[in-house]
Amino acid sequence: MPPPPPPPPNKPVPPHNLQQPLPPPNRPKPSWPIPKFDLRVEDLSHPGASIFFSNINPFESLKAAVIASFEWLYTPESVPTHVELITLILRPMDGVAHTHGSHTSKEIHFSLDHIKNSENRAKDEIDGVLTHEIVHCFQYNAKGTAPGGLIEGIADYVRLRVGFRPPHWKPTGGDKWDAGYQTTAYFLDWIEGRYGEGTIRELNQAMKEREWDVGMFKESTGRKVGKLWNMYCAYLKGEDKPDENSA
Ligand SMILES: [Zn+2]
Repeated sequence: MPPPPPPPPNKPVPPHNLQQPLPPPNRPKPSWPIPKFDLRVEDLSHPGASIFFSNINPFESLKAAVIASFEWLYTPESVPTHVELITLILRPMDGVAHTHGSHTSKEIHFSLDHIKNSENRAKDEIDGVLTHEIVHCFQYNAKGTAPGGLIEGIADYVRLRVGFRPPHWKPTGGDKWDAGYQTTAYFLDWIEGRYGEGTIRELNQAMKEREWDVGMFKESTGRKVGKLWNMYCAYLKGEDKPDENSA
């Protein structure tokens, strides 16, 4: 079945009521540079391992997560090609998952205990966690100087955009725009809806070769991040005012 058409230009998609994944922004579909994948399971007798394999085709899920990262954070011209190998390691461990590695080779460690504990919604949770971790394999971080909350927020922003939103996620506002994870993800989602498709892609791109500068938000939106956060919190409270200065 062909995918639905993208929304018309300059008509923001309401960001917080998405029941369906958004259509990816780049059309027609380019042939993205997919790295090689490897998979290691450190305890095949763990119940999380059988839950994983009965819900997931590892190659298809990893490839889809890479494509999601590329579609929401890059263009065919800007897509990074330096990652040659991504190894997924399923093993018993505390926590959910983490990613590390070299410039060309990444390792995603994913907890079999977490998979077991998410059994009732295993496929969405596994695909959601893989999407988050795969974003970390490619995203820019202002030469290591970007706020950790922004890095985690961008990873969950892509997860949110492709529709793997856990049931407990909701936009909350709060004191800090860079609290991270879904708090920052919903903020970025609102920015993308309000300032246009590609705004968060620009923010990621700005962090490619420069050290972190909070003015990067203003470069992409015309607004300082503090002002954006106040507008977003007002929007969540239903006090959103027309933004007279925005194009
Ligand atoms: Zn993360």
